[in-house]
Amino acid sequence: MRVVSPKKAICKPGENHGRWVVLGESFYLPPHEQYFIAACACGTIRAVHARNAMNGKSVSCGCHKSEVARVRIRKTGRENPSYRHGGSKSRIYAIWRGMKVRCSEKCPKDVWHLYHGRGIVVCDEWMDFTSFRDWSFQNGYKSDLSIDRIDGNKGYCPTNCRWATSVQQSQNTSNNVRIYINGLSMCLQQAIDAYGVQITATGLKYRLDQGWPHDAALFTPPNRNGNRNKYKRKNSDC
Ligand SMILES: [Zn+2]
Repeated sequence: MRVVSPKKAICKPGENHGRWVVLGESFYLPPHEQYFIAACACGTIRAVHARNAMNGKSVSCGCHKSEVARVRIRKTGRENPSYRHGGSKSRIYAIWRGMKVRCSEKCPKDVWHLYHGRGIVVCDEWMDFTSFRDWSFQNGYKSDLSIDRIDGNKGYCPTNCRWATSVQQSQNTSNNVRIYINGLSMCLQQAIDAYGVQITATGLKYRLDQGWPHDAALFTPPNRNGNRNKYKRKNSDC
């Protein structure tokens, strides 16, 4: 071990660096770095890397860091410096996170085509958890309800969402709307495929929502206005 000449020593005996007090001459350790023996305020004595002590990377033997950590742990709720909204353990928070994940690149593959893959987004206002939580409590949130988009083609925002029961929600999912044709009940897409008709599932659901009879809804070809035409009653329907 080679002692550093006093002229070249970065730290001199007696100096304070953080909680360290330099006890003696500095010395070199491989690869040619200066160290000194120092005492921490808590009583620990050890060799300290001189440059780290000077630039503040080493302020103590570790006792300072653990004291800070202990203070952080003791502070809970609003006392804690990292407190944000206090809701991260709540059910609403889990729902909010799930909603954001479905509408992001992180959307799970099995539902990709239903959310991120078809451009469903969360509005800017709801990217903030507290405004989503406030809206929820003002709009009938209960622990047995889930967030439901009223128009499945539009995104998550206050005007297009409600808290709904699972029954209400499944009735609102175009996948689960059923059509009765020739005494058979089937999904909209099944019926479209089975009869090889021109209409889309969304168009067909729209017609059913408008109160069209099921066979007319399926078999009437879409006109120039898409499906936005009212069903024209024939005399035979009355
Ligand atoms: Zn210490």
